Amino acid sequence: MVANGDMLLAWAKDAEYLKKGECGGAVTAILKNALETGLVDAVFAVEKGYDIYDAKPAFITNPEDIDRLSGSLHCGTLLLPKMIKKFLDGAKDMKLAVTLKGCDAKALYELAKRQQINLDNIYSIGLNCGGSISPVAGRKMIEEKFGVSPDDVVKEEIDKGQFIIETKDGEHKGIKIDELEEEGYGRRANCQRCKTKIPRQCDIACGNWGVPADKAGKATFIEVCSDKGAELIEKTSGAIETAPTDPKFVAIRGKIEQAMYKLADKARAEQFAAMGEGQDRLSFIMKETSRCIKCYQCIENCPICYCVECSTKKPYLVTPGQVPPPFMFHMIRYVHVSDSCINCGQCEELCAMDIPNALYMHALQIEMQEMFGYEPGVNLDLPVLALVEEPTERKRLSDTGDDQIFNIFT
Ligand code: FAD
Ligand code: SF4
Ligand code: SF4
Ligand code: SF4
Ligand code: SF4
Repeated sequence: MVANGDMLLAWAKDAEYLKKGECGGAVTAILKNALETGLVDAVFAVEKGYDIYDAKPAFITNPEDIDRLSGSLHCGTLLLPKMIKKFLDGAKDMKLAVTLKGCDAKALYELAKRQQINLDNIYSIGLNCGGSISPVAGRKMIEEKFGVSPDDVVKEEIDKGQFIIETKDGEHKGIKIDELEEEGYGRRANCQRCKTKIPRQCDIACGNWGVPADKAGKATFIEVCSDKGAELIEKTSGAIETAPTDPKFVAIRGKIEQAMYKLADKARAEQFAAMGEGQDRLSFIMKETSRCIKCYQCIENCPICYCVECSTKKPYLVTPGQVPPPFMFHMIRYVHVSDSCINCGQCEELCAMDIPNALYMHALQIEMQEMFGYEPGVNLDLPVLALVEEPTERKRLSDTGDDQIFNIFT
């Protein structure tokens, strides 16, 4: 019997998944089995598109198509939960198995607590995450630091602190991530600050940390994080081989996680300090956002932003037709989102003008967390600004012309 809290090593029984999978293919095997046996109606995950820099969402209902999913895409910076809300009706009437990095897992929780996603219908398969790389920055880094044409790279991986590439001629090259980041390459800035390394809010959390050397690349370490996770492993056990974990390697895994936290604390301290304090920080933010072309990508892609009536579109708050928009456009988002920002980086990654939106928002969120104790994305606790019911709040807004946050929880 598998139980909540168990840790195990797992790999696919299927020889092809075992070979093609990032760490033994257990995740692909579990997904396929869940679909074949009707445990879920569909799988929502990530697959390679045109090349390794093109991670794209994959919605799969036919088990034969699961083969497309094997492998981790580190240049993939998608956020799946917002898409579940937008395009799959929040999984309201559909059972889904979804693969989630830490930021995905946090977005899932923030949307679930706002009743935009039905968590009961989702098997959440967490992936440990050391970080991801923006596709554009990834290509530049490979060209400039590795001296290789990005189009010649057929596989990339992050292993033992190195970013490693494999070319179509079978050549392997690795450079330490620390070294890359010191020179301004490497993981996205928000990933450098991220402390959600093992997403234990998912039903299971999978990764290579804690896998013994002789099984490296051939097995996945699975931490079972809920009863539903235990049920998932039990029900899909026909598709995977499992072995017990070794306490020595569990301890090593813990040390790696702690080391990652330390690195993130250092990145936070450095990146937040670089913005200055108080009036200097405000001036910095105003200067950066003065490049804004009001493309709305920050709002479109932020998991916290999904309001039917967005305040940034109200003419009495933000004068229409002005580019760059008045600073109020950004202020509205800071006020509405900052308590719940999960540092997913979407508002920065997809900003047409490369404005470091996630940096300001994350810095604000951390300050609010210190003030109010609310940490977004880790459980179903309601955020600081969840004070009212939406109909009541909408009426108050319309009666008074006020623009304080409205509720979304009914
Ligand atoms: P596979 O059978 O190969 O299946 C992989 C699954 O992951 C597929 O379903 C695929 O759709 C999905 N997937 C691929 N890319 C993404 C993506 N970008 N976002 C969401 N889903 C995706 N483990 C660690 O222990 N330490 C790490 O530092 C670490 N960093 C990672 C960083 C990223 C960006 C990703 C995606 C994964 C990372 N992992 C890390 C997890 C690890 O690489 C494997 O995904 C995990 O061990 C499962 O291996 P597997 O062979 O069972 O998976
Ligand atoms: Fe991974 Fe965290 Fe970056 Fe998300 S924000 S991709 S979980 S490191
Ligand atoms: Fe993600 Fe930016 Fe929204 Fe924060 S504000 S949750 S970083 S999109
Ligand atoms: Fe985001 Fe605020 Fe607009 Fe809602 S009203 S979508 S929280 S900026
Ligand atoms: Fe402005 Fe960037 Fe947001 Fe577009 S994504 S509206 S350019 S801040």
